Amino acid sequence: MSGALALLREDLRDFAGYASARSARLSGRDWLNANEAPWPNPADAGGDNRRYPEPQPPALVAALARLYAVAPERLLVGRGSDEAIDLLVRAACRPGRDAVLVAPPVFGMYAVSARLQGAPLLEVPLVEGDDGFAPDFAGIERAARDGGARIVFLCSPGNPTGAAIASADVARLAAALRDRALVVVDEAYAEFSAMPSALGLLDAHDNLVVLRTLSKAHALAAARIGVAIGSADLIAVLRRCQAPYPVPAPCAELACAALSDAALAQTRERVAQVRAERERLTAGLQALPGVRRAYRSDGNFVLARFDDAEAAFSALLDAGIVVRDQRAAPQLGDALRISIGTPEQNDRVLAALAGAGIRAATARGAAVETP
Ligand SMILES: *Cc1c(COP(=O)(O)O)cnc(C)c1O
Repeated sequence: MSGALALLREDLRDFAGYASARSARLSGRDWLNANEAPWPNPADAGGDNRRYPEPQPPALVAALARLYAVAPERLLVGRGSDEAIDLLVRAACRPGRDAVLVAPPVFGMYAVSARLQGAPLLEVPLVEGDDGFAPDFAGIERAARDGGARIVFLCSPGNPTGAAIASADVARLAAALRDRALVVVDEAYAEFSAMPSALGLLDAHDNLVVLRTLSKAHALAAARIGVAIGSADLIAVLRRCQAPYPVPAPCAELACAALSDAALAQTRERVAQVRAERERLTAGLQALPGVRRAYRSDGNFVLARFDDAEAAFSALLDAGIVVRDQRAAPQLGDALRISIGTPEQNDRVLAALAGAGIRAATARGAAVETP
C-alpha cells in the first residue's frame, strides 16, 4: 500500500463509490441507460447538455495536467478547490478522531470542512516577524503528532497574509509527517508568486497534495474549476468519494477554452499586470499616514493594518469600495484585505484612504493642517 493510501480512512480505501451510467465501459448506438431525455432542451442551442457529463471530463483533465505539468492520473478536477478540500477531509478523517491542523489567520474553508466532518481542529498560529507571517513549523509538527492530525493545511501564498512558504520548508514538514498526515498545500494564488510551486516536490513525497484553481489568476471563479494533485492512489480514492457528475459540461468547455495557448498568454499578461499593481498599491499604502503596516504580498491582494481600521473601512465604503474586513481574524484586529483591482480602482482605493488617514489622525488629536 502506498504511503498516501495508509493515511486515508481504512473503510474508504476500497470503497467503490456510486456506479454511474458513465462509469461502466460499454459501447453502443442507442444510449438508453441513464434516463436522459431523447431530445435537447429548446434553450440548449448546441444540444449537448441532455446527457450527463463524464465524471472527469478527459479533455479538461488533459489540459489541466498539461498546465500543471503532472500525469493526468495524479489530478482530480472538482467544483473549485473548495470541493477538493472537503473531499480530502472526508477521505482522511474519521469523525471525532482524526484531526485537521490549520495555521491561522488563514482561509476559512479548512475549518468549515473539518467542522462538517466532525474532525477535531488543531490551530498553530502563524508567527509574525519582520518579513511578515510565517508558519511555526516546529509547533505544527509537534501539534500534529500530539493531536493526531491526519491533514495539515498550508496556504501558500497565504490568504489573507500574502506570505508564500519556501519549498524546502514544505518538503521538511512532509518528510517529518510522512507516515502520520497528509500535507496539503493550497496554492490558489501561486500564479502571482515568484516562489516555486510545491508541485515539484510531489515525486519525493507521497503524503503531499497540492491544490490549484482557475478561480483567481485565470479569472473563472464562476466556473468552479479547481484541482487536487497528489499520488495517483489517493486521487483514485477521492474520485470515488466525489459526487457522480461533479463537473458541469458548460463549465468544462469554458475551462478548456481558457487553457488554449492564446487565452493562457493573455492570462499571463494579466497576472504580470496584477503583480505590478500590487507593488504600486503596497507602496502607496505604506506611504499613507494612517497605515501601520502594509504587508509584502505574493497574492493578488494586500493585507494592511490601520491606526483606525473602522475609519478606513467606512471611508472606502463611502467611496463605493468594498474590501475584506479582517478584524475578526486572530492577530488581525486592525487589518483589512484589499484585492488588487484595475489601475483605476487601485487609484480610488489610495485616494479614499488618503482622506481616512487624515481623519484617523484628527481623531487622535494630532495636528492636522486643513485649508
Ligand atoms: C479563493 C480560495 C480558494 C477557493 O478556490 P475555488 O477553487 O474557487 O474553490 C481556495 N483556497 C484559498 C486559499 C483561496 O483564497
